[in-house]
Amino acid sequence: MAARMTTPPDPTPRSDSPSADGWSDLAALDAAISDCFACPRLVAWREEVARVKRASFAHETYWGRPVPGFGPEHPEILVVGLAPAAHGANRTGRIFTGDRSGDWLFASLHRVGLANQPTSVHADDGLELAGTRVLSAVRCAPPDNKPTTEERDTCAPWLDAELGLVLKSVRVVVALGGFGWQASLTALARVGAVIPVPRPKFGHGAEVVLALPQDQQVRLLGCYHPSQQNTFTGRLTEAMLDDVLGRAAAARLRP
Ligand code: SF4
Repeated sequence: MAARMTTPPDPTPRSDSPSADGWSDLAALDAAISDCFACPRLVAWREEVARVKRASFAHETYWGRPVPGFGPEHPEILVVGLAPAAHGANRTGRIFTGDRSGDWLFASLHRVGLANQPTSVHADDGLELAGTRVLSAVRCAPPDNKPTTEERDTCAPWLDAELGLVLKSVRVVVALGGFGWQASLTALARVGAVIPVPRPKFGHGAEVVLALPQDQQVRLLGCYHPSQQNTFTGRLTEAMLDDVLGRAAAARLRP
């Protein structure tokens, strides 16, 4: 997979209206996402964080832009998180890369055979994922890791577009946290999935099989988000993370 270099932010507004339709390939979509300026609060925050920096990264040039998905173009597994971390993906330009949540996620993906290495440090570190694409429901780092409802909804067409482009090969969606679960259900409904009523509830290890058009099925798995809030407190352990991602890996290979 081609590595993406981290480049300085370009302040020229080029996209302020995310669109779910009209995308022919992921490269074009990723480029458009990276140039999105639709949410004034998040644009201001991502650029301020990139300018002020954390002292330990003062020598680095932050990405400071929206962060596209990472992984192969025809994934069997999608891992859907919340949003980039201010000093993680907003710094490195690759989702879940350069922060403690990513340390947990990619180490687990490696243990269950879905990543070629256990670490994800920067965008050119050689990391490759097997049949797995990682993305976030909101593409810009939000203050306090909390996008507003309006920002979530403004960004949703990017998730719809990405899901639409990769859907044919997808067999499993792993939703990280309740936010990722709800965003995944909503996006899957928009691409034609039949969502049971009442709407399936998020929980760690929750699983629901959703019917899609043309006899396709997608298995949605819930997993606690590997945020420090969960990993420091023991709410999420390595074994629990490996269990869900291991189930995804097994479902990917099931005939
Ligand atoms: S959060 Fe999404 S819609 Fe808002 S500016 Fe970032 S990429 Fe655009």
